[in-house]
Parts: sequence; C-alpha cells; structure tokens
Amino acid sequence: MTSPTRKIAKIIEPQNVVEGAGVRLKRSIGGHALNYLDPFLLLDHFQSTNPADYRAGFPLHPHRGIETVTYLLTGAVRHRDSAGNAGEIGPGDLQWMSAGRGILHEEMPQLRPEGVAGFQLWVNLPAKQKMSAPRYQNIHANEIPVIERDRGASIRVIAGTVDGTTGPITGIVAEPTYIDVALAGDGRLVLPIPRGHSAFAYLFDGEARFGAEDSTVVTAPKLIVWSDGDSIEVHGEKKSARFLLVSGKPLNEPIARYGPFVMNTQEEIQQTLRELQQGTFAQ
Ligand code: MN
Repeated sequence: MTSPTRKIAKIIEPQNVVEGAGVRLKRSIGGHALNYLDPFLLLDHFQSTNPADYRAGFPLHPHRGIETVTYLLTGAVRHRDSAGNAGEIGPGDLQWMSAGRGILHEEMPQLRPEGVAGFQLWVNLPAKQKMSAPRYQNIHANEIPVIERDRGASIRVIAGTVDGTTGPITGIVAEPTYIDVALAGDGRLVLPIPRGHSAFAYLFDGEARFGAEDSTVVTAPKLIVWSDGDSIEVHGEKKSARFLLVSGKPLNEPIARYGPFVMNTQEEIQQTLRELQQGTFAQ
C-alpha cells in the first residue's frame, strides 16, 4: 500500500518588505498572504549585492517567546546580544536561536563584494517554553551532512533525518525538518514527512514541480505549502532547482503577536512591554 502524497495547498508570491533599519527582503510567511503556518511565524529571504539594500541591518532589538533561525548562503552576518554572546554567521552556516523569555540582540550583515543572501525563519514556542532560558545552536557549514541521492538530489540536512542521517540541530519542540535541496533538471525527490506536521518548500532558484509528475511548474521565488499526507515529491524541470524544505509540528495554541514578541495572550504582551519600559527585560 502506498502512502498518500501531499498535494499543493497554496503557492505564495513573496512580498517585498523593508525590515530592521532598512533591509530589503522578500517575506512569504508572516505577511498578508499567509500570516501563520503553525508553528512557523515568519519566513524572510534576503539577497542583494547592493549595500543600500542591507547595510543598515538589524540594530539592537528584543525577542521573546519564539526561535529565530538564520541560514546564510552568501556573505556574513555578525550578531551580538546583551548577555555577551557574539559571533559571525558565514556562508552555509546556521544559527538556531531560542529566545525563550528574552534576548536583546543585533544582527548586522557585513559589507562584502559578493553581497549577502540567506533566510530567517521564526518558529513558535509552546506556552510552557516561552519563558525558558535563551539557547543558541551555532552550526558551521562543515558540520552539516550532505546526502547525495541517486535521482539528482543533493540534500544538506540541517534538522531532521534523511536516509538515516540526522542533522546537527537537536532538542527543538517543533520536531522540525530543515533541509536545503539542490535538484537537477531531471531529478526527483520523494521524502516522508510526518502526518499532521505543517510542511513547505521555499524555492529560491530555478524551477520544479512540487506534487505529482503532472503538477504545475513553479518558478523561483515562491513559497509552496503542502496539504497533509505522509510524504512529499518534487520533480525537476528543465532547469535545476534549489529550495528549502521545512516541516514542523503545529502547536495549536492561541497566539498574541506584537513585532518581535509572540505570546499566548495580550496580557503577556503588555507584561513584556512593561519590562522593556522598566529596563528589566532580558536582565
Ligand atoms: Mn532578531
């Protein structure tokens, strides 16, 4: 018996937005078209060789109640927080930051001739973990295993398990899969995804079909959201394709969202704003 393949539920055109102190990026989760794909709150894609698009960066700002996942393809982003954590995220590196009860940090893309390109994903935390201690997982490019499938797919496994190989990101409540796939024009990818988990692909280069062999050809950049099922399939088209494939377990909890804070109730948001005003946030 074959397990049901997920169908395409939605294809979303990323919106151009300006965020931080003036960074131009493409938003596909967290905007008008798709505000929330439980447990995913936001997906931003930044890619530019023009310093004016990114040099203003993201100066000191707070987070509470969520995880921010920064994955870089090109260039460098320096980060520093109020607890003294600091570092640089380079090409192929990933930072999975659980803000928990709170951090204050800055994220500054560095001026480079090659520019900067990458993604930030926000993952919601369940009520019982929103006020936990902040935690960082900083992964270097060379720590990420690469699976070469015989059907023209090269897969960097950041979180989750592919063909028995598990990515370096561990202990995340959403039980995420986070992989970076390069698919040849004649390639094919079939992958199990746990039933009930939300799943999407973010196609950032080339074109492919994200359902059965006769499904529509999708051209980058697009967000593809799958319906429920046991597995996904992606078929290469004439051009090769590169996409992120992400899945996670929904929380099914109420959300109260205010900029960089995501809690369960408005009262918790008000409390967070009082702490920020009184200077007790992230102390
Ligand atoms: Mn941030």
